[in-house]
Amino acid sequence: MLVSRRLVPLLFAGLTLGLLLGGVPAGVATAQPRLPSPAGWPLAGKPEVIRGFAAPEHDYGPGHRGVDLAARAGQPVLAGAAGMVAFAGSVGGRGVVSIDHDDMRTTYEPVSPQVTAGQRVRLGQPIGRVSGGGHCAGRCLHWGLRQGVSYVDPLVLLGQAGGPIRLLAADQREVAAERARARAEASPGIDAVAAVALGPGGGHGFVQPVPGAVTSAFGMRFHPVLHRWKLHDGTDFGAACGTPIRAPYAGVVTRAYFNAGYGQRLILDHETVDGVRVETALNHATHFVVRPGQTVTRGQVLGFVGSTGYATGCHLHLMVWLDGRLVDPMTWF
Ligand SMILES: [Zn+2]
Ligand SMILES: [Zn+2]
Repeated sequence: MLVSRRLVPLLFAGLTLGLLLGGVPAGVATAQPRLPSPAGWPLAGKPEVIRGFAAPEHDYGPGHRGVDLAARAGQPVLAGAAGMVAFAGSVGGRGVVSIDHDDMRTTYEPVSPQVTAGQRVRLGQPIGRVSGGGHCAGRCLHWGLRQGVSYVDPLVLLGQAGGPIRLLAADQREVAAERARARAEASPGIDAVAAVALGPGGGHGFVQPVPGAVTSAFGMRFHPVLHRWKLHDGTDFGAACGTPIRAPYAGVVTRAYFNAGYGQRLILDHETVDGVRVETALNHATHFVVRPGQTVTRGQVLGFVGSTGYATGCHLHLMVWLDGRLVDPMTWF
């Protein structure tokens, strides 16, 4: 009795630890994906995106793990890229087809399949017809893209910006913008004045995470939607969606998660550099390929440029904290 009483809590502790260590956070893929190429829309022409991608905060959390493309029942569904049919059948009463493209998988639903598992398909080949069921209910095609357990915005296949924000109506966009800014201003350590005191940057060995030019600088700017002065809490670099985001300096991944304003974001702790504690955040990515606790080297690919969260197009929003104070990234880089 004495032994089992001591053993049971230990077993539970071990099981919990195992689940924690074994769990893979949503949006964090295990290896750098190779996007299938060439790729195309799964419907003829250029279908309208009626609902965008919204990555779930955790594996089973709410989100929209794909894009909904306007379609009518009976319309032919086309393979988004060449590959092998992994599944063609019924899931929860609706028809689903999934196609493997090396380490990535595209999914199509609701579809009455015209292909079978194991069959090779080429880009644009009809794989079935739009049917009913699911949240599309015969009015759209839900198109998904995943790598292992991680969902990715399928619009990256077409070199387009994904993300739900650009699909919002103007009034909703304003609400989303206001929330994002309020969140940014409420976050600890924001101190715009610190930027002024630090003087010119550079010389610390940090490299730009993406090769693009600065499209919007840190500082107060007149918000085009809200019509008032707001702090832009980082530096924007213009870059196409899918461009690799590289670690600006060696460090440890402290967090990787989805935020409504910043989208898919990653926080790096670079520890003490030239006597200053340095942390960086990389925002609006499609997804990241590293996970919390992982050590990264300067230049290592962390993820890919996207437009998740409050973003009007593909870009990287870089943030820097020095000794816990948010500063203009260009005073350090
Ligand atoms: Zn959908
Ligand atoms: Zn920005």
